[in-house]
Amino acid sequence: MMDRYLISFVAVLSCLLGGLDASAGDVDPHYRACVKTCEEIGCVGQRCFPDCNFSKEGVSSDGPWYMQEPLYMQWKQGDCQSDCRYYCMFDREKEREALGEGPVKYHGKWPFKRVFGIQEPVSVAFSALNLAMHFHGWLSFFILLYYKLPLNMNKKAYYEFASLWHIYGFFSMNSWFWSVVFHSRDVELTEKLDYSSAVALLGYSLILAILRCFNVRNEAARVMVSAPLLAFVTTHILYLNFYKLDYGWNMKVCVFMGVTQLLLWAIWAGVTRHPSRWKLWVVVVGGGLAMLLEIYDFPPYQGFVDAHALWHATTIPLTYIWWSFIRDDAEFRTSTLLKKAK
Ligand SMILES: [Zn+2]
Repeated sequence: MMDRYLISFVAVLSCLLGGLDASAGDVDPHYRACVKTCEEIGCVGQRCFPDCNFSKEGVSSDGPWYMQEPLYMQWKQGDCQSDCRYYCMFDREKEREALGEGPVKYHGKWPFKRVFGIQEPVSVAFSALNLAMHFHGWLSFFILLYYKLPLNMNKKAYYEFASLWHIYGFFSMNSWFWSVVFHSRDVELTEKLDYSSAVALLGYSLILAILRCFNVRNEAARVMVSAPLLAFVTTHILYLNFYKLDYGWNMKVCVFMGVTQLLLWAIWAGVTRHPSRWKLWVVVVGGGLAMLLEIYDFPPYQGFVDAHALWHATTIPLTYIWWSFIRDDAEFRTSTLLKKAK
């Protein structure tokens, strides 16, 4: 009896692990053969791609100067490969569907339908909205600090965390900008820029969480706390870019940094008497639930909306509440400091 349980347990586990296999699609021999042929003849079935012939035949010397640039050639070769992969993937997916099989990932990604050449239009749209939300949040924070709240004699804000939040605004907007680019066109360069800026943002916001939750205001103490984290994050980014883009390891690092800062804010929200602590609660619970979407990945509905796109959607309202908390914090700290001064 025990044996039977054990066997079924192992069977279920191997099914689950099989489902988690990141690139089941591109190890498929049918898919591989299709891509190989396409890159040679420049066609998949009836569809042919001019970029493939372009890279094969080379360019005549009387073409414009930019057409002879090696970078331009590489880009065209990349276009050919990406077109071949895209159409082979959809042909293969149609065959799989006819056999009653579900979608699989290709090169670590689900099969998405392109719109105007944009690879993941829904993720692009949500990333752009996140970017806009961060810009709006940062701008209203800036206006509050320098035009609405009182300034000290040096014309500076009383709020001690002002410059830290300005830097946070920069890292956030930078990260969402590269997210828009990466989801529009997935090549090695855009992927590395997206991953690196996301890691930088997560690392920086962890430092910020520690400094704000423990109310670290002394300059030397701030440097002491942030130095080891900055060193780690920098090393991790260099590792991803110049040694190995290890998705599994990167996911662990990101989840660890993400969970740690959510826990910090949650504990602080539990003990502090901050008037806007409920906003912290909303962001922590919402952020935790959103993270589940990123971990429990599911294939795109109708070839458009997958777990990752939904994850980007949930962070839009959370970003709004988050900047509203930051503005409240600036107001709260300023009034506390002014009361003390009186
Ligand atoms: Zn994304």
